Amino acid sequence: MSKPIGIDLGTTNSVVAVAERHDQVRVIADAAGDSTTPSVICFLPERIVIGAEAKALQAVGQGETAAFFKRHMGDANFLFSAQGRDWTPVDLSALLLARLREQAERALGARVAKAVVTVPAYFRNPHREATRRAAEQAGLELLQLVNEPTAAAIAYGLRQGAADSGKTLLVYDLGGGTFDLTLLRIDADEIRVLNSVGDHELGGKDWDDRLVEWAAKRFEDEFGRDPFEDAATRADLFVEAEQAKKRLTQAQRAIIGIAHGGHRGRYAIERAEFESISADLTERTTWLTETLLDDMDIRAECLDGILLVGGSTRMPMVHDFIRRKLGQEPMTGVNVDEAVARGAALLAAQHRPNTAQFSIGGRRAVDVTNHSLGMIAENQDRTAYINSIILPKNRDIPSTERRPFRFRLGRGNRLEIFMTQGESVRPDEPTFLGLYSAEIPLAGQRGEAIVDIDYAYDLSGTVKVSAQLRGGPQLAMKVEPLPDDVPERFLLPPPSEPQPQHISVFLTFDLSGSMAGEPLAEAQRAAHEFVRNLDLTHASVGIMVVADRVDTVCPLCQDARKLGHAIDRLEIGSVGYGNGAHPFDQALNTMSAVSGTKYQLVLADGVWSNQGLAIDRAKRCHKAGIDIIAIGFGGVDQGFLDAIASTDQGSIFTSLEGLTEAFSTIAQELTEGGTAFSLASRK
Ligand code: AMP
Repeated sequence: MSKPIGIDLGTTNSVVAVAERHDQVRVIADAAGDSTTPSVICFLPERIVIGAEAKALQAVGQGETAAFFKRHMGDANFLFSAQGRDWTPVDLSALLLARLREQAERALGARVAKAVVTVPAYFRNPHREATRRAAEQAGLELLQLVNEPTAAAIAYGLRQGAADSGKTLLVYDLGGGTFDLTLLRIDADEIRVLNSVGDHELGGKDWDDRLVEWAAKRFEDEFGRDPFEDAATRADLFVEAEQAKKRLTQAQRAIIGIAHGGHRGRYAIERAEFESISADLTERTTWLTETLLDDMDIRAECLDGILLVGGSTRMPMVHDFIRRKLGQEPMTGVNVDEAVARGAALLAAQHRPNTAQFSIGGRRAVDVTNHSLGMIAENQDRTAYINSIILPKNRDIPSTERRPFRFRLGRGNRLEIFMTQGESVRPDEPTFLGLYSAEIPLAGQRGEAIVDIDYAYDLSGTVKVSAQLRGGPQLAMKVEPLPDDVPERFLLPPPSEPQPQHISVFLTFDLSGSMAGEPLAEAQRAAHEFVRNLDLTHASVGIMVVADRVDTVCPLCQDARKLGHAIDRLEIGSVGYGNGAHPFDQALNTMSAVSGTKYQLVLADGVWSNQGLAIDRAKRCHKAGIDIIAIGFGGVDQGFLDAIASTDQGSIFTSLEGLTEAFSTIAQELTEGGTAFSLASRK
């Protein structure tokens, strides 16, 4: 059976290792015999070269060279064009991982299928997802993504005896392109990450750049030519500078040579001068170190050890800094280039599917969440947005948490989860990790829904978000790009609660003799439909009839059964057979003390004998805030309908067959707060 490998997928260099026996790790060298493989890919017209050879080609300016692509992991906009196609950071990382896998297969003489891959502690969800995809693309089953400092600590941890229990350690990781600081604790049975910070724009490359600038300036002063004019010279200069930097680790003096435009310059630099032109870079690590210790309320003298990781920690100025600022000698004993891969290999060997912890030398190595994860929610009284934490920091991984949230349902019933990382309750202080959305399947319903939100943090440091409607289905989640106005939009108050205005409607039926038979039956059907389509939690309905007299056969109520009975009992002749009365005075009297939105929905089939008076009184109703919707059919006078209705839309002429639809449409409109029938809509 093939052995699982550990891969340190680095910004400048990558390392692959395998645990041969329980505590013996073999770092697998590349074809040139180096334990580190430069994370460099060179695209030539006919082939792709990876590692030391690619770096050498880069130095002579050949091919299209991709380097430092790890800095772009998770960045959807970064594309590298070569060989007539675009390569994403995932594609580039996959090429490198596949190359490391092949390297291991050659050394082990067996197929390699599984790996633990390391990522910087500050990698967020999208970066981790991207790394996971790269591993898959490289044909590797990813056992776990582990934080680099955690892996390094495991490599160091093995060298320490059980006597180290209770110690607090600082991992100082300065590689080629990243700087990571991690505080960890060794207990009797576990190695725990307490906190981790990083600066992913700081690494050995920045020290190289200082030497490049320094030497290029000397050359320009001497020959009046800029060595950057020529790509090959420029590439040579970067190689020279890195070599000089490494020499300065051993020696007090190094020489940087530049040949350009027929001129040859040789510049000697003293270690002291190198340290002075790069002092601000070391200072940047000081600042982060102080911030981390302050945050954790730990004094430097309380640290039980400082672990060095990454090639750049070989620089004497780093050792000096640690001695000066932290008052102690850093620990030694592990190759700083290999520590991360060694730890990853140990984890790979110890990996048991579905276990959160790994027994290493009798101890467990536990990774924890470094930051709290939450989402933006409304505060208790819904006057402001807050960052509401779902998964608190320092939880052992894997970890899952479920929290219920009350969501307002607007039109469309869209649920939005803005995922955050950070401790502050303020909505503008955390980092926004992503936007997840779902449709709540409650079409047409208004009000609120309770949704249980789950955050699941897995071993690879990836967070999975899921949501379930309380008492309902699991919601299908979509990942969306974060809008540009985040977090600013959350500094505004949430939209004020749309107070559902109470609606009062008097259904008013013309029960003159001409309504006998089919017209009354249709009117009753339409009235039933109206009641069915109205949200009676926010509406009251009354029924009035008019012929020779006016009568309120059902006062305003919210009782569908009562209304149903009243509709069924509508009878021709109950208020006479003629059409001499009008219902507007009675509506005005009955509704004057009623608050909210008031409507009178009048159904007429003929011509009223007192039209002038009726129009006059209808207008009084309009003035008093009662909006009249007039529906007519048969021989009704359309001009009359227009005159009594409050708005143009409120004057509806239809056929007998169209009555039910007209009534139910009106009920829906009123329920949704439509203003088409209200005088207010004319203003
Ligand atoms: P890593 O990403 O850990 O492989 O770190 C690589 C970085 O370490 C590169 O910037 C190297 O130039 C740097 N590095 C390696 N060896 C030395 C050394 N002896 N002195 C100074 N920097 C070194």
